[in-house]
Amino acid sequence: KLYNQIQDLRGNIRVYCRVRPFLPGKVSSSSSVAGIEDRTITLMTSSKQGKDARKSFTFNRVFGPLATQAEVFVDMQPLVRSVLDGYNVCIFAYGQTGSGKTFTMVHSFPIFVVILVSLQNQNNIFVMLQSGPKILTEEGLGVNYRALNDLFDIQAQRRDTFCYEISVQMMEIYNEQVRDLLHSGPNKKLEIRNSSQNGIAVPDANRVPVASTSDVVDLMNLGQKNRAVCSTAMNDRSSRSHSCVTVHVQGRDLTSGTVLRGCMHLVDLAGSERVDKSEVVGDRLKEAQHINKSLAALGDVIASLAQKNAHVPYRNSKLTQLLQDSLGGQAKTLMFVHIAPEPDAIGESISTLKFADRVA
Ligand code: ADP
Ligand code: MG
Repeated sequence: KLYNQIQDLRGNIRVYCRVRPFLPGKVSSSSSVAGIEDRTITLMTSSKQGKDARKSFTFNRVFGPLATQAEVFVDMQPLVRSVLDGYNVCIFAYGQTGSGKTFTMVHSFPIFVVILVSLQNQNNIFVMLQSGPKILTEEGLGVNYRALNDLFDIQAQRRDTFCYEISVQMMEIYNEQVRDLLHSGPNKKLEIRNSSQNGIAVPDANRVPVASTSDVVDLMNLGQKNRAVCSTAMNDRSSRSHSCVTVHVQGRDLTSGTVLRGCMHLVDLAGSERVDKSEVVGDRLKEAQHINKSLAALGDVIASLAQKNAHVPYRNSKLTQLLQDSLGGQAKTLMFVHIAPEPDAIGESISTLKFADRVA
């Protein structure tokens, strides 16, 4: 098992954290992130007496605002590759809306050419972005593309010994309903099925074979387009639904004939921010309740896996049902939490890090 070097004492759950830079035109004179040192992130919370209070959290990896997409991916590569050895893998991005989840997983197209300006005073990290012309660059590509490209590379390297078939599904969960993002016909509700032969699967979601980067780019564009169709200007659905790219890999050993199957879920979760119940009504309230419920269910599942509880409550949400085969057991899970550096994000940042801390 060449790529199976990741063994964690806590089972197979790891936690990464990434802090994004300040955005162009929105530079603040202070940051809620007091420091990042090795695997520890320290937040600055101002107490009522006006004194600064600090809170530190330690994870498997912490990436600062200068980390590139390539640097972030390198750390995930062994995990991604283990899907070729027949492991199930789940990578999910967690954090409040605007914290950088989609940036890490997908990267929005087209991207800005960014010029990073980094200044550091004694405590705070000030990193901001300045935007240049919009063009498409490879450096900006997120985990979804990099993971698939990496699998294609290994597929080519092992061509003489293994025959791999790679296919992709793309779904979204919105208000506890699973929908296909690669559909061509009417977009109906989908059922998550559990069979002894296929495990957990969504057989009615379109499953498309992929063999090259351009196949993947086309699919992702279709998925993003279908997602956008469902949203209105008032309702940015992308931050209120979970999106999941599922990569199925089947590998046949050409000498022995043995077949290995692995599956990898790459999940961009709905924004984790608490919605003030006094301010929202109707559909917005319903959405918020569904999001809270499913993120809480995910947290409960991860926490009970980390504690090695006998009972893992997978059935409490569509999200945890869909990911069940890739959470727990032999599966490898990466929880990737995202932090916005603005001082007014501090409350959400703390609750994000506490969520992650339940398993770290
Ligand atoms: P989310 O998906 O969590 O709502 P986004 O990924 O859309 O957040 O990020 C919000 C904004 O911040 C976007 O304009 C995105 O391009 C930018 N951004 C996020 N993370 C980074 C980063 N690491 N470096 C540069 N820009 C980032
Ligand atoms: Mg997003």
